[in-house]
Amino acid sequence: MADRNNVIKRISSLGIKFEFGTRSDFIGFPVRPLIIIYPRDENDIISIVKIANEYRVPIVPWGAGTSLTGAVSCNDCILIDMRSMNRILEVNTVDWYVRVQPGVILDDLNRELNKYGFLFPPDPASHYMCTVGGIIATDAGGMRAVRYGTVKDWVLALRIVLPSGDAIRVGEPLRKNRAGYDLVHLFVGSEGTLGIITETWLRIMPLSRRHLRVFIVYLDNMDMLARFVYEVRSRGIIPELMEYMDYYSIRAVNEVFNAGLKETNGGLVFIIIEDDYALELMDIASRIGEVHELMDKDANKMYDYRSRAGEAIKTMYGNFYSEDITVPVSKLVEAIGKLRSISMKYGRPMPILAHIGDGNMHPHILFKSGEENMAQKIYEEVARIAIELGGTISGEHGIGLQKKSLLHEQYIERNNVITLNLMRNIKRLIDPSNLMNPGKYVDY
Ligand SMILES: Cc1cc2nc3c(=O)[nH]c(=O)nc-3n(C[C@H](O)[C@H](O)[C@H](O)COP(=O)(O)OP(=O)(O)OC[C@H]3O[C@@H](n4cnc5c(N)ncnc54)[C@H](O)[C@@H]3O)c2cc1C
Repeated sequence: MADRNNVIKRISSLGIKFEFGTRSDFIGFPVRPLIIIYPRDENDIISIVKIANEYRVPIVPWGAGTSLTGAVSCNDCILIDMRSMNRILEVNTVDWYVRVQPGVILDDLNRELNKYGFLFPPDPASHYMCTVGGIIATDAGGMRAVRYGTVKDWVLALRIVLPSGDAIRVGEPLRKNRAGYDLVHLFVGSEGTLGIITETWLRIMPLSRRHLRVFIVYLDNMDMLARFVYEVRSRGIIPELMEYMDYYSIRAVNEVFNAGLKETNGGLVFIIIEDDYALELMDIASRIGEVHELMDKDANKMYDYRSRAGEAIKTMYGNFYSEDITVPVSKLVEAIGKLRSISMKYGRPMPILAHIGDGNMHPHILFKSGEENMAQKIYEEVARIAIELGGTISGEHGIGLQKKSLLHEQYIERNNVITLNLMRNIKRLIDPSNLMNPGKYVDY
């Protein structure tokens, strides 16, 4: 208790904005910190971490709390809310990078880059809420990942405050850099368990000059979905975006945003594609479903509906856990069959959103208050589909609290305990007092 009071006293006397209170993340996982603090720069973070170290108090970085795995949930932690570190420091249109602080909202970053004719392509559907630090820490994917990969493919360098309070820089703002072990990608996707990102150099690209076309393909049944994706992939067609919304997600978007989409049993596939591929795509699509081409305004609206579909599901159906399994596209038929069986077994709908072009599916496990354990059980059952089919328990949302034991299962099944221990040892080496976001990711 004395320590607790001392920590609060020391932190609150740093001259950095702070507050007391509780919050929850997007899913509803509780965040009950000792104190919430809003650093302005890296030096503020160093001071906070040094105090945390002295008193052995856990630290949890908070971006925007859109985590879908309980990754920011904590008790009696120092919650470092990054939102005040939200400056875009440099846009370099010759070396093609942007240097940015972690609290910048992703959409704000792209609005700025667009002024220069540039883009940072990864676009998790939460792009209008999530922060640059959060997407790096989770290695977020998103809708354009099918074409441009996930965030890790776009991070060149990072500044990080380690749990010791030392600040380091890893990587270089260069497309090619082979100097040493790849520490950048050790920190990308580490979910705040290894250090706090205070600055980053992200690769950017010029906005495409090619003509893009936008289609919706309505399907009569979900079995057509796997066939469609399989054929698109095997013909070598590269979409910019290939998203799936099932019947229940479409209903939610219609109900909440008045989207006016057709509520077909098999759902819809939303595709953006370069003009060169459009004829071939339409040829496949028209044999499989009902094809509609969307023009400018409607295309933008559709992108918005898909982005906000998670919100719509929450508004219409209430609590959910969002699964994030990824299976090889060649295994989509089996995966869809198994998902259907689980949904029938538990007698509840499971609205599915999917970055279907890369086999990444988000079945939403719906539950009422008090049914958390049951929902977690279903969530884990769904994750095991991926392990069974040679996929992964997380394509992009990460591990957080919810998938810690599943990570263990996947590694034991596919790799071995030595690989898991290697991960644990990395954590122990960098964070010997287990201060950074403890209790998540890997066992300490
Ligand atoms: C509606 C909705 C749609 C989504 N769609 C997608 C999607 O399409 N693709 C996808 O990949 N994800 C998606 N997500 C989840 C995704 O993980 C988050 O949107 C995002 O990556 C996290 O950003 P955030 O700023 O909210 O971070 P938070 O949720 O606040 O934090 C996430 C993790 O990052 C850590 N962290 C945050 N900032 C830092 C920092 N500066 N240094 C070190 N660690 C830090 C936190 O401690 C935590 O472990 C979606 C979420 C929602 C709510």
